[in-house]
Amino acid sequence: MAEIQSLKIACPSCAGHIEFPVDMHGQVINCPHCSLSVPLTIPGYVCPASAPPLPQTVRGQIIRKGETFGVGCLVQLIGLVLLFIFPIGTIIGFAIMVCGQFMAYKLRCSICGAQISGKRVKMCPACRASFV
Ligand SMILES: [Zn+2]
Ligand SMILES: [Zn+2]
Repeated sequence: MAEIQSLKIACPSCAGHIEFPVDMHGQVINCPHCSLSVPLTIPGYVCPASAPPLPQTVRGQIIRKGETFGVGCLVQLIGLVLLFIFPIGTIIGFAIMVCGQFMAYKLRCSICGAQISGKRVKMCPACRASFV
């Protein structure tokens, strides 16, 4: 557990020294020196408790994207050539083409385009967009 930090301000009325715990930031107290109300605020200081909540997770989608160039395409091409070598090539070629087609498709994040390892991935590893 982190220690509670304390902040120091000077009373705007009497310039008296006021120290208060961080979680009191934003409150108004009566100055212990002159009893006038003093807002416990420090310009530029963002109290951790009152800090705005983290930005909403970006909703993304896993998109299947075919690649026109790449290994998958090359594999498909090899399969196509093998198709003409009857009969073994036809079988192997077909299998290779299916395999190449699978390879040519990649799952990508719709937000940042990062490659996603599987359809069950719930969050983009690159931009942290949620796919749920
Ligand atoms: Zn004062
Ligand atoms: Zn992403």
